[in-house]
Amino acid sequence: MIYQKVKGMLDYIENEADKFRYIEKCVTDEIKKHGFREIITPILENTEVFVHSVGDESDIVTKEMYTFFDKGNRSLTLRPEGTAPVARSYIENKLYSRPSLTKLYYFGPMFRYERPQAGRYRQFYQFGVEAFGDSSPLLDGDLIYSGYKIFERLGIKDIVLKINSIGDFLSREAYAIKLRQYFFSYRDRLCEDCQRRLEKNPLRILDCKVDRNQPYFRTAPKISDSLTPASRAYFQKALDYLTLLGVSYEIDYNLVRGLDYYTEIVFEYIYQGDDDFKGLAICAGGKYSNLISDFGGPDIPGIGYAFGLERIMALMDRQNLFPALDSGADIVIIALDELSKEHSLYLANILRNRGYRTEIDYYHTTLKPQFRFAERLNALFIIIIGEEERINKSITIKNTKRKTQETIKEEKLLDYLKEH
Ligand code: ATP
Ligand code: MG
Repeated sequence: MIYQKVKGMLDYIENEADKFRYIEKCVTDEIKKHGFREIITPILENTEVFVHSVGDESDIVTKEMYTFFDKGNRSLTLRPEGTAPVARSYIENKLYSRPSLTKLYYFGPMFRYERPQAGRYRQFYQFGVEAFGDSSPLLDGDLIYSGYKIFERLGIKDIVLKINSIGDFLSREAYAIKLRQYFFSYRDRLCEDCQRRLEKNPLRILDCKVDRNQPYFRTAPKISDSLTPASRAYFQKALDYLTLLGVSYEIDYNLVRGLDYYTEIVFEYIYQGDDDFKGLAICAGGKYSNLISDFGGPDIPGIGYAFGLERIMALMDRQNLFPALDSGADIVIIALDELSKEHSLYLANILRNRGYRTEIDYYHTTLKPQFRFAERLNALFIIIIGEEERINKSITIKNTKRKTQETIKEEKLLDYLKEH
């Protein structure tokens, strides 16, 4: 019986794991410059945390959550997204009592029971940020810009920022009424989910992946016509700041985002290259004015976004953006008899302490297989120790790039390595 990984989940092995960590490092280095500190929350939350925030009509809550009862009969859920847990923690730990804005980032696995396909998995990694405590288009512009800087840092091309305002509560109330009226005349053509959404949450219809391409979608009322003057002005300010920072954007009136907690500004960074990934969202986010208060916290707004790591990785592979990932060793020590083997173990660890990635072959004492081992690891230096070297307290060292070989006193080895 050969066991297989769970459907829709990935193993990252060696080079793939190196790429994964490379992305993590670039992204976290960049975001720290923008003043964000890390938060690590549990992967499990009480189910209610997501139902209450993401919304009970959202795809995530209705279809995609990994929910189960633990032995104490509590309903728990593997987190499908990062904002709700961070908001939960923010309130539970009373971070709002700080005088200033709290800027947090997270990085970790998320779980959604979706149909697996390119760029869509059941366990996937998100890097995300949340800023709590200020409602200002200046903050919004700056935060959206930090996402732009991350694409720049990674070198990813062909990304476009799509942005929209879904307004404040009043704007959305007015819009929901217009949408309900409009879609009511197409109700027979709507998918089953959207027929239900029509009653409960008509905005969700705009995020439907089934109905999205229908012609009647294009002529649906636009949220921009229902925005209150305050929401309209707020949106325009944020757009002005993006222009100031040199970020070009497209306003997408159908962009509403699949989660219920958003208000005012929502945005996505979309891949626009000419291949099968075209149209895929790499990063998405928005402002949420009421999430913290809905969770029983004070009336404090937040804004955030999340990047999908697998999608970043796939694009970076396609655009050839990973540096040459050196998988091997700096030094391989070849030992030609039992006693030399013993000595090589000692020497290897001295070299490791000095920062050299050093490997030995634990098994062979003949030359050929050990040379092959060194070649496979692409070792820059090969050290050879045999009986003669041992007696003379010397080593033979090959520089594989310069193609030189010499025998030197072992005590001179560190100097030799420094010079070569
Ligand atoms: P989509 O519209 O593609 O389903 P979404 O709106 O559900 O995305 P968000 O909840 O906003 O996505 O998550 C933010 C980012 O996380 C997405 O832009 C994407 O890069 C990534 N992401 C979301 N779902 C998955 C998944 N199942 N597999 C891999 N990455 C994902
Ligand atoms: Mg989705």
